[in-house]
Amino acid sequence: MNSPVTRWHKKLDVQLADFWANEAVLIPATPDCKKGCSACCNERVFLNPAELVTIAAFLMRTLKRGALERMKRRVARLAKLVEVENIEEWWRNERPCPLLVANDCSVYSIRPIACRGRHSLDAKTCELDSPEGSKCLTGPQLIEAKIVTEAMSETEAAGADSRPVELIVGLDEALNGNGAAVWVSRGRGFPRATKVVDDEIDSRIKETT
Ligand code: SF4
Repeated sequence: MNSPVTRWHKKLDVQLADFWANEAVLIPATPDCKKGCSACCNERVFLNPAELVTIAAFLMRTLKRGALERMKRRVARLAKLVEVENIEEWWRNERPCPLLVANDCSVYSIRPIACRGRHSLDAKTCELDSPEGSKCLTGPQLIEAKIVTEAMSETEAAGADSRPVELIVGLDEALNGNGAAVWVSRGRGFPRATKVVDDEIDSRIKETT
């Protein structure tokens, strides 16, 4: 099924492949990112609500009952921490994404745009103790930003809430609440996850003024 989310992800993957094949010829290296590398999986992930709903539906469909209950508890515990820790504290405390299982992304084929667009020349630098430490390239991040904007416009045009959401709190609202159903019926399904993003933007604005 070619859902909007699948289409966004494919478009991003194609444009990133094109970047490495044609635009990055002067960069004397190849991306160090690959399936199984989780060096940046303890960063905050902001995503389109449609991506969040897709991931939540995938977990509900594919996890056995016990594993789903464990995932729900893990998400609920981490969501409480997301809501009290800022990004730097989160990074320092090395809290891994709840979707990381045995050092592997358990939703790799549908991982968010934000995860797909991280391309580093040196995965070791991603493990340094600050979000600024990694050698993530600007080119892929600009391509990612363009797809994020397109996805947001398309979501808005469909009459749905297009505001970005934070992954873990959003999963808590989807798996332990009725956030996904509310969002699908054009309501504001993820107020807590949206607030995390808004607070982060406010804090970055304050830092720069
Ligand atoms: S969704 Fe997957 S790739 Fe993204 S942070 Fe979580 S585990 Fe890592």
